Amino acid sequence: MKAIRVHQFGEPEVMQLEEIPDLQPGPGQVVVRVKAIGVNPVDTYIRSGMYARKPELPYTPGMDAAGVVEAVGEQVTRVKVGDRVYVAGTLSGAYAEQTLCTESQVHPLPDRVSEAQGAAMGVPYATAYRALFQRAHAIPGETVLVHGASGGVGTAAVQLARAAGMTVIGTGGSERGRNLVAEQGAHHVLDHRSPGYLEQVMTLTNGRGVDVILEMLANVNLGQDLKVLAPGGRVVVIGSRGTVELDPRDTMSRDAAIVGMALFNTPERDAASIHAALVAGLENGTLRPVIGQEIPLAEAPRAHRAVMEPGAYGKIVLIP
Ligand code: NAP
Repeated sequence: MKAIRVHQFGEPEVMQLEEIPDLQPGPGQVVVRVKAIGVNPVDTYIRSGMYARKPELPYTPGMDAAGVVEAVGEQVTRVKVGDRVYVAGTLSGAYAEQTLCTESQVHPLPDRVSEAQGAAMGVPYATAYRALFQRAHAIPGETVLVHGASGGVGTAAVQLARAAGMTVIGTGGSERGRNLVAEQGAHHVLDHRSPGYLEQVMTLTNGRGVDVILEMLANVNLGQDLKVLAPGGRVVVIGSRGTVELDPRDTMSRDAAIVGMALFNTPERDAASIHAALVAGLENGTLRPVIGQEIPLAEAPRAHRAVMEPGAYGKIVLIP
């Protein structure tokens, strides 16, 4: 089978398509014939060698995919050969024609959902769900600011929060992205490149502020986020690419909380609960992953450049 292999960390071009042996499942493992692969910003951090978690070289990048179960090992009971599944985490890497998973890493893909959409589930939807419900403990009736709502995690968060009965404010940096945020169910949409845009959050909430902020770029926004939080408000730091200055008094006056998260830290029980909820959302149609670009697997370097560019529009997927 063909797979992207990385023999040294560096620029996107270190990713090369190579022929490698087919995969065989061990006990409790599943081999999936991959039809689509999700490209996440973290894949680029790992490839560059700058990320805290470094795989042993050479490796195949990627954590998210969707396809059809091709082989199952002994003791596998949750799926069978021929089932359509999405993959959230893998043992062998996702940028390939086949991927090897534990049984708990594969989840059923309902008929109404395409494989490209399935490839958008793992990191983005699980992150949005964990941030909103398990870290911020958001509840129906609260107001949520999805700060960076046009990309993979943001569109997922807008759909989840809207379906749960929250008032949703989403931001995007391009007109196309903002239209997308509105289409996904945000009640109000703001431009995070427009000066003073956060003042509109106070107007939209009658001066009260928002209960929850899901923050995609904390190094730019965290200090200002604290000023638009309601009493008892919570900010979840999902993305950050540097340091930031903030006034701690802004948390004191509001009894506010800043909460971090890394999806990698999710305990297995919480992950199982997250994916049970996500599969239900796919089945009932409240979750509808948006695919912005499909790129051939051989052009993975182009996909890594694209995912780091401004003007996000849903999810970028690779097609083997
Ligand atoms: P993505 O699809 O590339 O989307 C990036 C988002 O950030 C877009 O909505 C983009 O909007 C927005 N953004 C850009 N400038 C912004 C600003 N000044 N203020 C607010 N938002 C801004 O990436 P993703 O997959 O959604 O991931 C988002 C971030 O979360 C990344 O940094 C990623 O590494 C991180 N992440 C963390 C975890 C975790 O476990 N903690 C998990 C998944 C992702 P425009 O392009 O429209 O400007």
